[in-house]
Amino acid sequence: VPTIGVLALQGDVREHARALEAAGARTLSVRRPEELERVDGLVLPGGESTTMWRLARSFELLDPLRKRIEAGLPAYGSCAGMIMLADRIRDGVAGQETVGGIDMTVRRNAFGRQVDSFEASVPLTGMGDTPYHAVFIRAPWVESVGDAVEILGRAESGPNAGRIVAVRQGRLMATSFHPELTGDFRVHHYFADLVRRTTEEE
Ligand code: GLN
Repeated sequence: VPTIGVLALQGDVREHARALEAAGARTLSVRRPEELERVDGLVLPGGESTTMWRLARSFELLDPLRKRIEAGLPAYGSCAGMIMLADRIRDGVAGQETVGGIDMTVRRNAFGRQVDSFEASVPLTGMGDTPYHAVFIRAPWVESVGDAVEILGRAESGPNAGRIVAVRQGRLMATSFHPELTGDFRVHHYFADLVRRTTEEE
């Protein structure tokens, strides 16, 4: 059984840990570089990316996160976590840095200019036949992606239909929405499988 860490600086850490356990993974809260070294995969939860970035910097986790991700650690970011995994951000606060890894540009609070939170149906590649019922909370959207990025899902309904909201690049994946909140853990299963396959390969 692989151990999947949840970055526990800020945000909805417990909900992700529960969803990962439901998907058959062992979990570990990650706040320190030593903890990061012990995990086979990492979830970056939703919360507030500006706070997460500041805390990651003061806990001296930014560089260790970048190094492990560059070395092939599977990682999944939801909402603020998606922002953390983006190579480029728009509407960040001054100086806001990310961990990066996914060749994409995301816009912070993009949907929020119209409405703070909403739900939409999102068909997800490789995660079953029924569209995912996705919950968005002051979510980013993906504005553009590089060639190596696979689009896993676009919002299907609502005023934001067509927007890219789920992506994968190799061992990294990200969603604008919060799959830990609805009891449908397909996204966590998909990520746990990715981590399992990676640990078997190595
Ligand atoms: N708006 C938040 C940010 O910029 C993300 C919101 C969320 O994670 N639910 O980080």
